[in-house]
Amino acid sequence: MTLAAAAMADRIPLIDLAAQRARIGPAIDAAVARVHAHGQYILGPEVAALESALAAFVGAGHCVTCANGTDALVLALKALGIGPGDGVIVPAFTFIATAEAVVLAGGVPVFADVRPATFDLDPSGLGPAIAAARAAGVRARAVIPVDLFGLPADYDAIADAAPGLAIVGDAAQSLGGARSGRSAGTLAPVTTTSFFPTKPLGCYGDGGAIFTDDADAAQVLRSLRSHGAGTSKYDNVRIGTNSRLDTLQAAILLEKLKVLPDELAARRSIAGRYAAGLGNWVGCPVVPEGAESAWALYTVQSDRRAAIAAAAAANGVATAIYYSVPLHCQPAYRGYPRASARLAVAERLGDTVLSLPMHPYLSPDAQDRVIAVVGDAAG
Ligand SMILES: *Cc1c(COP(=O)(O)O)cnc(C)c1O
Repeated sequence: MTLAAAAMADRIPLIDLAAQRARIGPAIDAAVARVHAHGQYILGPEVAALESALAAFVGAGHCVTCANGTDALVLALKALGIGPGDGVIVPAFTFIATAEAVVLAGGVPVFADVRPATFDLDPSGLGPAIAAARAAGVRARAVIPVDLFGLPADYDAIADAAPGLAIVGDAAQSLGGARSGRSAGTLAPVTTTSFFPTKPLGCYGDGGAIFTDDADAAQVLRSLRSHGAGTSKYDNVRIGTNSRLDTLQAAILLEKLKVLPDELAARRSIAGRYAAGLGNWVGCPVVPEGAESAWALYTVQSDRRAAIAAAAAANGVATAIYYSVPLHCQPAYRGYPRASARLAVAERLGDTVLSLPMHPYLSPDAQDRVIAVVGDAAG
């Protein structure tokens, strides 16, 4: 067997859900069996139990689960009264759902640039974004900072830069992260997350949640996720939708939440080793003082990205590009306002970012192999 063939036999995936299942599979299967025994597949007891556990985990007053992270954003925007004609500022470098949810809620996404080392929304772009919206006949009413790759955005600076805007946090990638001593999920008045299988806390399908300290907002969110229900299921006081988290997924998430702190610690330690081993060769992600990333992804930057990705592939190391095309350059989104003609950082990141294997069960040997392959190709 050649060296490359040996490496392929022992492929290192970007994310390894099977390794997690090998650890807690029996507990999850028992939790699923309990749901089958009681049969309450919609809004069964596990859903309320999960909402309490998640609210306690992040330190939020209320958690309202829903069908997925995209719906969580749409529901949050609707609960804030964002509707037709309202501008919502979003970063140009994020997953498409952040902007898509604005359009689904009836609003107008307004794109702004991100910061180069931390990938988060640049507060200095908010003023220009508000002006660009106004020039397009749109009143900016809200902003969605995104906790990209696990690092919470700079919410305090964003609130200072645009005090008139409502803030919805997109914490789809950051459960377990923190900034300024506050947990992801509590950094904005309303914060959403996703339980897509590969997120730091993922289920075995789609799921999402919204956090808030505002009891009235939580009640509106519960109504919106269940057809705008009022005091009873067949009393409909607003236009809602069907966006509930399945009881089966809640049962699975309750088991996964138990090991999340341990998994976050493992991710942190891997990120530390990557930074020590790769810092001289590629741009490693920066975690600002007082912040904690959940390390959903470990994303480096390099002008030699193509060579690194090719070498990794040849050596059985999976890599991926999140995200190659910024949102304001996507065909369906090109027509919306943006803070400036070019969003230079987002556009450059599209050409240079590369995500490396990152999951709690990545062995020290595998970490060393990633470091060796990437360092070699980058040097
Ligand atoms: C995953 C993700 C979403 C959407 O979550 P889904 O559950 O897939 O709908 C939204 N925003 C960001 C930043 C994401 O990474």
